[in-house]
Amino acid sequence: MHFYARPVARLIDELSKLPGIGPKTAQRLAFHLLNAPADVALSLARALEEARTAISYCSVCGNFTDDDPCFICRDERRRRDVICVVERPRDVVAMEKTRAFKGLYHVLHGAISPMDGVGPEQLRIKELFKRLEGGEVLELILATNPNVEGDATALYLAGLLKPLNLKVTRIAHGLPVGADLEYADQITLSKSLEGRREMK
Ligand SMILES: [Zn+2]
Repeated sequence: MHFYARPVARLIDELSKLPGIGPKTAQRLAFHLLNAPADVALSLARALEEARTAISYCSVCGNFTDDDPCFICRDERRRRDVICVVERPRDVVAMEKTRAFKGLYHVLHGAISPMDGVGPEQLRIKELFKRLEGGEVLELILATNPNVEGDATALYLAGLLKPLNLKVTRIAHGLPVGADLEYADQITLSKSLEGRREMK
Protein backbone atom coordinates (compact mmCIF):
# COMPACT_ATOMS: atom_id res chain seq x y z
CA MET A 1 0.00 0.00 0.00
CA HIS A 2 1.62 3.23 -1.16
CA PHE A 3 -1.17 5.72 -0.58
CA TYR A 4 0.49 7.08 2.55
CA ALA A 5 3.97 7.88 3.77
CA ARG A 6 5.00 5.03 6.09
CA PRO A 7 4.52 6.94 9.41
CA VAL A 8 1.04 8.01 8.29
CA ALA A 9 0.14 4.45 7.37
CA ARG A 10 1.35 3.32 10.80
CA LEU A 11 -0.72 5.98 12.57
CA ILE A 12 -3.85 4.98 10.62
CA ASP A 13 -3.16 1.34 11.36
CA GLU A 14 -2.82 1.98 15.12
CA LEU A 15 -5.96 4.15 15.25
CA SER A 16 -8.01 1.56 13.39
CA LYS A 17 -7.27 -0.96 16.18
CA LEU A 18 -9.44 1.11 18.56
CA PRO A 19 -13.01 -0.05 19.18
CA GLY A 20 -15.56 1.56 16.89
CA ILE A 21 -12.90 3.05 14.62
CA GLY A 22 -13.03 1.75 11.07
CA PRO A 23 -10.40 2.46 8.39
CA LYS A 24 -12.20 5.60 7.17
CA THR A 25 -12.48 7.14 10.63
CA ALA A 26 -8.88 6.17 11.35
CA GLN A 27 -7.78 8.02 8.23
CA ARG A 28 -9.88 11.06 9.16
CA LEU A 29 -8.43 11.15 12.70
CA ALA A 30 -4.89 10.69 11.43
CA PHE A 31 -5.22 13.56 8.96
CA HIS A 32 -6.85 15.70 11.62
CA LEU A 33 -3.90 15.11 13.97
CA LEU A 34 -1.38 15.78 11.21
CA ASN A 35 -3.11 19.02 10.19
CA ALA A 36 -3.48 20.26 13.76
CA PRO A 37 -0.69 22.24 15.43
CA ALA A 38 2.09 19.92 16.59
CA ASP A 39 1.34 20.45 20.32
CA VAL A 40 -2.25 19.22 19.90
CA ALA A 41 -1.07 15.88 18.57
CA LEU A 42 1.91 15.61 20.91
CA SER A 43 -0.18 16.48 23.95
CA LEU A 44 -2.52 13.61 23.01
CA ALA A 45 0.48 11.30 22.68
CA ARG A 46 1.78 12.39 26.10
CA ALA A 47 -1.65 12.00 27.75
CA LEU A 48 -1.87 8.49 26.35
CA GLU A 49 1.61 7.58 27.50
CA GLU A 50 1.07 9.05 30.96
CA ALA A 51 -2.29 7.33 31.47
CA ARG A 52 -0.99 4.01 30.24
CA THR A 53 2.17 4.02 32.35
CA ALA A 54 0.74 5.63 35.51
CA ILE A 55 -2.45 3.60 35.71
CA SER A 56 -2.63 0.08 37.02
CA TYR A 57 -5.25 -1.95 38.90
CA CYS A 58 -6.09 -1.32 42.54
CA SER A 59 -4.87 -4.38 44.47
CA VAL A 60 -8.06 -4.35 46.56
CA CYS A 61 -10.96 -3.65 44.19
CA GLY A 62 -9.35 -4.04 40.75
CA ASN A 63 -10.40 -0.60 39.51
CA PHE A 64 -8.01 1.55 37.48
CA THR A 65 -5.84 3.69 39.72
CA ASP A 66 -2.62 5.67 39.81
CA ASP A 67 -2.39 5.05 43.54
CA ASP A 68 -2.76 1.76 45.41
CA PRO A 69 -5.27 1.28 47.04
CA CYS A 70 -7.44 3.51 44.89
CA PHE A 71 -9.19 6.66 46.15
CA ILE A 72 -12.52 4.82 46.55
CA CYS A 73 -11.01 2.02 48.67
CA ARG A 74 -9.20 4.62 50.79
CA ASP A 75 -12.22 6.88 51.29
CA GLU A 76 -13.23 6.59 54.95
CA ARG A 77 -16.63 8.18 54.37
CA ARG A 78 -17.72 5.18 52.31
CA ARG A 79 -19.58 2.23 53.79
CA ARG A 80 -17.35 -0.80 54.22
CA ASP A 81 -20.16 -3.29 54.82
CA VAL A 82 -21.42 -3.34 51.25
CA ILE A 83 -19.54 -4.21 48.07
CA CYS A 84 -20.92 -3.70 44.58
CA VAL A 85 -19.52 -6.30 42.17
CA VAL A 86 -19.15 -5.11 38.56
CA GLU A 87 -17.57 -6.43 35.39
CA ARG A 88 -15.39 -3.53 34.28
CA PRO A 89 -13.79 -0.34 35.57
CA ARG A 90 -16.18 1.61 33.31
CA ASP A 91 -19.10 0.15 35.32
CA VAL A 92 -17.64 1.73 38.47
CA VAL A 93 -17.80 5.07 36.66
CA ALA A 94 -21.44 4.41 35.63
CA MET A 95 -22.36 3.59 39.27
CA GLU A 96 -20.47 6.56 40.68
CA LYS A 97 -22.31 8.91 38.33
CA THR A 98 -25.62 7.89 39.91
CA ARG A 99 -24.30 9.09 43.32
CA ALA A 100 -26.68 6.48 44.73
CA PHE A 101 -24.03 4.06 46.00
CA LYS A 102 -21.79 4.83 48.95
CA GLY A 103 -20.12 1.48 49.50
CA LEU A 104 -17.07 -0.16 47.94
CA TYR A 105 -16.60 -1.91 44.60
CA HIS A 106 -15.11 -5.09 43.28
CA VAL A 107 -14.19 -5.29 39.60
CA LEU A 108 -14.22 -8.82 38.18
CA HIS A 109 -12.59 -7.84 34.89
CA GLY A 110 -15.08 -9.70 32.77
CA ALA A 111 -17.99 -12.10 32.95
CA ILE A 112 -18.29 -15.83 32.49
CA SER A 113 -18.55 -16.48 28.76
CA PRO A 114 -17.83 -20.00 27.52
CA MET A 115 -18.13 -18.75 23.93
CA ASP A 116 -15.21 -16.39 24.48
CA GLY A 117 -13.31 -18.92 26.56
CA VAL A 118 -13.77 -16.93 29.79
CA GLY A 119 -14.31 -19.14 32.83
CA PRO A 120 -14.60 -18.20 36.52
CA GLU A 121 -10.86 -18.72 37.02
CA GLN A 122 -10.12 -15.75 34.74
CA LEU A 123 -12.18 -13.40 36.91
CA ARG A 124 -11.08 -11.75 40.16
CA ILE A 125 -13.20 -14.07 42.30
CA LYS A 126 -10.46 -15.30 44.64
CA GLU A 127 -9.66 -11.68 45.41
CA LEU A 128 -13.34 -11.06 46.21
CA PHE A 129 -13.45 -13.94 48.68
CA LYS A 130 -10.28 -12.69 50.31
CA ARG A 131 -12.02 -9.37 50.99
CA LEU A 132 -14.88 -11.19 52.69
CA GLU A 133 -12.60 -12.95 55.18
CA GLY A 134 -12.53 -10.02 57.60
CA GLY A 135 -16.28 -10.37 58.24
CA GLU A 136 -16.82 -6.65 57.76
CA VAL A 137 -18.88 -7.06 54.58
CA LEU A 138 -22.59 -7.75 55.12
CA GLU A 139 -24.01 -7.29 51.63
CA LEU A 140 -22.77 -7.99 48.12
CA ILE A 141 -24.63 -6.32 45.28
CA LEU A 142 -24.12 -8.24 42.05
CA ALA A 143 -24.19 -5.54 39.40
CA THR A 144 -22.87 -7.51 36.46
CA ASN A 145 -24.46 -6.53 33.16
CA PRO A 146 -28.09 -7.55 32.49
CA ASN A 147 -27.18 -9.93 29.66
CA VAL A 148 -26.57 -13.69 29.35
CA GLU A 149 -22.95 -13.51 30.55
CA GLY A 150 -23.69 -11.08 33.38
CA ASP A 151 -26.63 -13.15 34.62
CA ALA A 152 -24.59 -16.36 34.44
CA THR A 153 -21.81 -14.71 36.43
CA ALA A 154 -24.23 -13.43 39.08
CA LEU A 155 -25.79 -16.89 39.46
CA TYR A 156 -22.39 -18.52 39.71
CA LEU A 157 -21.25 -16.05 42.37
CA ALA A 158 -24.51 -16.36 44.32
CA GLY A 159 -23.94 -20.13 44.45
CA LEU A 160 -20.37 -19.73 45.69
CA LEU A 161 -21.40 -17.15 48.26
CA LYS A 162 -24.28 -19.13 49.73
CA PRO A 163 -22.29 -20.84 52.52
CA LEU A 164 -21.05 -17.44 53.71
CA ASN A 165 -24.52 -16.32 54.85
CA LEU A 166 -24.18 -12.82 53.49
CA LYS A 167 -26.96 -10.79 51.98
CA VAL A 168 -26.47 -11.26 48.23
CA THR A 169 -28.55 -9.02 45.98
CA ARG A 170 -28.87 -8.56 42.25
CA ILE A 171 -29.60 -5.17 40.70
CA ALA A 172 -33.19 -5.02 39.47
CA HIS A 173 -34.23 -5.54 35.91
CA GLY A 174 -35.65 -2.48 34.29
CA LEU A 175 -32.26 -1.93 32.83
CA PRO A 176 -32.48 -2.56 29.11
CA VAL A 177 -31.95 -6.32 28.74
CA GLY A 178 -28.74 -7.22 26.97
CA ALA A 179 -27.31 -3.78 27.58
CA ASP A 180 -24.23 -2.70 29.46
CA LEU A 181 -24.41 -0.71 32.68
CA GLU A 182 -22.42 2.05 31.05
CA TYR A 183 -25.23 2.73 28.56
CA ALA A 184 -27.95 2.95 31.19
CA ASP A 185 -28.95 6.47 32.16
CA GLN A 186 -28.28 7.52 35.73
CA ILE A 187 -31.91 7.45 36.86
CA THR A 188 -32.50 3.95 35.48
CA LEU A 189 -29.29 2.72 37.05
CA SER A 190 -29.97 4.20 40.47
CA LYS A 191 -33.55 2.80 40.39
CA SER A 192 -32.16 -0.59 39.49
CA LEU A 193 -29.77 -0.34 42.44
CA GLU A 194 -32.59 0.75 44.73
CA GLY A 195 -34.84 -2.09 43.55
CA ARG A 196 -32.22 -4.79 44.00
CA ARG A 197 -33.52 -8.16 45.12
CA GLU A 198 -32.04 -10.78 47.33
CA MET A 199 -30.78 -13.86 45.48
CA LYS A 200 -31.81 -17.03 47.25
ZN1 LIG B 1 -9.73 0.11 45.01
